[in-house]
Amino acid sequence: MKILVINAGSSSLKYQLIDIDNKKVLAKGLCERIGIEGSNLQHTCVEKGLDKIKIEKPMNDHGDAIQMVIDALIDPEHGVISSMDEIGAVGHRVVHGAEEFTDSCIITEAVMKALQKCTPLAPLHNPPNIIGIEACKKIMPNTPMVGVFDTAFHQTMPPKAFMYALPYEYYEKEGIRKYGFHGTSHKYVSQKAAEYLGGDPEKLKIVTCHLGNGSSISAVNGGKCVDTSMGFTPLDGVPMGTRTGSMDPAVVTYLINKGMSAQEVDNLMNKKSGVAGVSGVSSDFRDLTAASKEGNKRAQLALDMFTYQVKKYIGSYAAAMGGIDAVVFTAGVGENDAATRKAIVSGLEFMGIKIDDEKNNARGTTDISADDATVKTLVIPTDEEMMIAIDTKRLVEGK
Ligand code: AMP
Repeated sequence: MKILVINAGSSSLKYQLIDIDNKKVLAKGLCERIGIEGSNLQHTCVEKGLDKIKIEKPMNDHGDAIQMVIDALIDPEHGVISSMDEIGAVGHRVVHGAEEFTDSCIITEAVMKALQKCTPLAPLHNPPNIIGIEACKKIMPNTPMVGVFDTAFHQTMPPKAFMYALPYEYYEKEGIRKYGFHGTSHKYVSQKAAEYLGGDPEKLKIVTCHLGNGSSISAVNGGKCVDTSMGFTPLDGVPMGTRTGSMDPAVVTYLINKGMSAQEVDNLMNKKSGVAGVSGVSSDFRDLTAASKEGNKRAQLALDMFTYQVKKYIGSYAAAMGGIDAVVFTAGVGENDAATRKAIVSGLEFMGIKIDDEKNNARGTTDISADDATVKTLVIPTDEEMMIAIDTKRLVEGK
């Protein structure tokens, strides 16, 4: 079965066509500047090994963008299918599924209504996701569609983990609680880790560290998420590229009382903080490492703050699960930055976590644990699109 995976943003749309039976990406690309002057499609035919092409053409809305994607996929030269009918199903990434969605699901009219109900919790992200689904449904009315939610994997968290200690009615009436994000990535790498380690996945206690521009850590016990570091929004948890991560919430009211608007504080915490804000250098870990090597103390401080917090999450999640069998690193930093991985795990030898410096420099899916480690440390490249395609096939086949 060939599955089209769609990730629709407000003015962009990413796609991949995946042959799910062979787990192969056939083509992928990106529509940029939808509804804005200069719209273009960048398409790569992976199957034929062709270079990326860029087609500049006005796209007034997401419907135009999807049509251009289909045209590229059936193009005789750069395409990979002969007609739209070869697309067996479409999997849509949806950011927020709130408590409505505990798993991926086939999109029906009832689901579209439930999606609208989740929108207040993700006012910037869910509306373009919904527009993407609607545009696809118009162009491919007979093709089954599946919604895959960033939050769904975390819905197995128990109330003691997801509740905030506000008066209970704030949870009941406003839905204020921890939801968690990056769920598709945590699910994918925890499943891959279980496959890699063998044994009974029901018995494995894994801490997955998705460390990229946005970062989150999850505790996965027997394949189920029991805790995660992001919260009501993706601002919570460890410091990120430009996001604060957790801090005393009273800082917010303090700054507002000093004269900043709520919007300004929100912007400060999401866009100007994190390792970029502390270092004054960059949100990119490569730049921070380079600056630190040149003696920039604030760049080193930002890196230290990041690795210290991730280390604390690993320790606290081991405590939450009553043990730990494996730590998994993934995403841009987790997959590529050996020095940051080393800084995170150093000092955790008392828990049996110890990495081998030589193995730590390897690439791809790999076990970087030292021979005498009792807890495995793995690097597993994430693949959210593949996870969306796997879930889409599972649901379309009624499993
Ligand atoms: P992501 O959000 O998963 O795409 O991760 C993006 C981040 O990964 C970038 O901002 C960089 O900080 C980081 N990154 C990517 N490649 C490397 C690398 N080779 N070394 C260190 N950090 C990297």
